[in-house]
Amino acid sequence: MKEEGVQLIVDGKRLDGRGLEDLRPIKIEVGVLKRADGSCYVELGKNKAIAAVYGPREMHPRHFQDAKMARITYRYNMAPFSVDERKRPGPDRRSVEISKVSREALDPVVIKEYYPKTAIDVYVELLQSDAGTRTAGINAASVALAAAGIPMRDLVSSVAVGKIEGQVALDLNALEDNYGEADMPVAMIARTDTFTMLQMDGRFTTDEWKRGLALAKTACHQIYELQRQALIEKYSESIVEGVV
Ligand code: ADP
Repeated sequence: MKEEGVQLIVDGKRLDGRGLEDLRPIKIEVGVLKRADGSCYVELGKNKAIAAVYGPREMHPRHFQDAKMARITYRYNMAPFSVDERKRPGPDRRSVEISKVSREALDPVVIKEYYPKTAIDVYVELLQSDAGTRTAGINAASVALAAAGIPMRDLVSSVAVGKIEGQVALDLNALEDNYGEADMPVAMIARTDTFTMLQMDGRFTTDEWKRGLALAKTACHQIYELQRQALIEKYSESIVEGVV
């Protein structure tokens, strides 16, 4: 997409050993922060994301309140040490954009009408970044919202699909993202196959786009299962211990 000169597929395998349709290894852990109402840690390959949810709380300042429903705020932040060269701390254009699309990806599943005039705050911190960070953040935030007991219609699952060496490939890492030809992050409600985010950087032919979307769909179904399992594991543990 941006640069040329690295062979990304050798003997049918990607440089990290994956096939074109393989996700990176995923780890999901629920309830990692004591002070948040809900939290979740997600590893997606070398990405490390942590999501914390606070609320619902009364929205301040008051003129931001919606009399009919809660408002979700979402702050995506990449730590200065999360990338090879130190990133300047604080918000920038990219993090503002990612925060906006991530909030919109989660918005449709939250039953906001239950909490008028309140805010539900979602914070996503990237401790390590290797492309696909917005998708790792959305997966973590979705589980953290559920862990916070926020009423939701369902979970949201997210993955990116791209094009490397002229071939459609799932879940690009940073090297593939830099030297590849396209990257398309999506988020969806897997159970109903409803897309809540679809972005596109680079170009696909119509056929590649359809194939990419199908790959992303299958991957979101896999991720959804892992999210569910992580929640079940956490809360069945609490029931056994008599905490709930
Ligand atoms: P995503 O992480 O969702 O794929 P981008 O495509 O914007 O979003 O970024 C791809 C990757 O590029 C990031 O995951 C990160 O590894 C790297 N990157 C992004 N912004 C910076 C930055 N300011 N400094 C260093 N690396 C960055």
